[in-house]
Amino acid sequence: MTTYRTQNPSTGKVVRSWDSLDPREVGTAIDTAEEAFTSWRRTSVEERAGVLARTAHLFEQRAEELAGIAASEMGKPVSQGIAEAQLVAQIFDYYAQRADELMADEVLPDQGANSSRVEKQPLGVLLGVMPWNFPYYQLARFIAPNLLLGNTLLLKPASICAASALEMEKLLDQAGLPKGVHQTLLVDSSQIADIIADPRVRGVSLTGSEGAGASVAAAAGKHLKKVVLELGGSDPLIVLGGDIDAVASTAARARLSNAGQACNSPKRMIVVDEFYDTFVDKLSAALSAAVVGDPQDGATDVGPMSSTDARDELMELVDDAVGHGAHVLVGGHPREGAGAFMEATVLTDVTRDMRAWSEELFGPVAVVFRAADVDEAVALANETDFGLSGSVWSDDLELAEATARRLDVGMAYVNEHGTSLAGLPFGGVGRSGFGRELGDYGVDEFVNKRLVRVS
Ligand code: NDP
Repeated sequence: MTTYRTQNPSTGKVVRSWDSLDPREVGTAIDTAEEAFTSWRRTSVEERAGVLARTAHLFEQRAEELAGIAASEMGKPVSQGIAEAQLVAQIFDYYAQRADELMADEVLPDQGANSSRVEKQPLGVLLGVMPWNFPYYQLARFIAPNLLLGNTLLLKPASICAASALEMEKLLDQAGLPKGVHQTLLVDSSQIADIIADPRVRGVSLTGSEGAGASVAAAAGKHLKKVVLELGGSDPLIVLGGDIDAVASTAARARLSNAGQACNSPKRMIVVDEFYDTFVDKLSAALSAAVVGDPQDGATDVGPMSSTDARDELMELVDDAVGHGAHVLVGGHPREGAGAFMEATVLTDVTRDMRAWSEELFGPVAVVFRAADVDEAVALANETDFGLSGSVWSDDLELAEATARRLDVGMAYVNEHGTSLAGLPFGGVGRSGFGRELGDYGVDEFVNKRLVRVS
């Protein structure tokens, strides 16, 4: 059964395909992971940190080549792919450098015994179900902290991104990771529930859509397995003041990064009345000027979307909005010719009766709303079932910070949007999922915090 294929989204050409594993092969992979766990969990923290540090180095060295693979699989411009590989290097390095501190026992204050401590023990075999939009970074968020903990990993990449996942597995091998500790699992999503049900699998982490998250969480719930979900977002970017030119051009860059296909992209821009017209003009100009084209070309700002299907789904939302009275100020169409290209688009006058009001626009489309004042801006920002991140922009830092603290999100920013660094926790609330990745919080999920008390 061929379910994995690399189809270059710039040309539509199928580059390579893979058969997915049959149930017997899946069983063998779980056996291997379980066996590897018995020895990996006993390795020293120093040894695990060494593997992480060498992986970081390989990502740094091979950034350009890795970016080329991502560009041909899912259309990410190479400059952005290089930046992604460098961020992955920082993530592996973070856990390597902080290994001793993160894995140290926590000594609890004296409570009537000789000692009470909490130690971190791994859970065992984990399943990661990952998307295509950041084919290295999303994987690294799952892999790096869990290898440090001593868990062993089965990783199911998105069906359009096998090549990047297999390349990452190769780098981990080259970094000296023992056989079986991390395995790429090319399986169909219909096989995931059975894998979660396997008693040897102790937890599952998924990054992707709400639908996929709900089915993985249902399977995990049924079998009482720990689950982490990083789902979509419809993040607000609130403009209260400041240098509107600069804010609009930063907002445009953030919205167009990865062709708009990021969970934490600023999809709803909410601007107070006073600055609305200027912001919309500047944003429209910036989006019109963006170079849409070949992701392998260093001058390209916006590559193709991941597939023509993804683009068609986005166009359905745009057409629905326009059909109900929204205005397209810039773009609004697929680009003619081969490939999954979409024009950078600005939509205004989106109202509650449109799908674009409540659904995630996973592509290069910015929706701009006018708010009478700060209170209305916050109310609009929070009028969503998602809760990933949000940002507030103003020269008045006190006002901006107070406003950011009113957002129902997992990550609130002032005068920047969506920054993800190795040391910052990442995750949301509501329909954006639960659990945290990255930073010191990354080792708090798939872990047994075992109390050891000696009297
Ligand atoms: P999916 O959620 O379908 O895919 C993400 C991963 O989950 C893939 O490995 C996929 O496998 C797998 N998967 C899909 N359905 C199931 C299921 N029922 N059970 C178990 N695993 C499943 O995302 P898409 O790639 O199709 O994108 C659709 C939407 O998802 C986007 O428009 C966006 O809203 C959201 N999304 C959010 C991301 C984020 O960063 N939070 C990332 C990507 C998407 P396979 O590829 O084989 O289907």
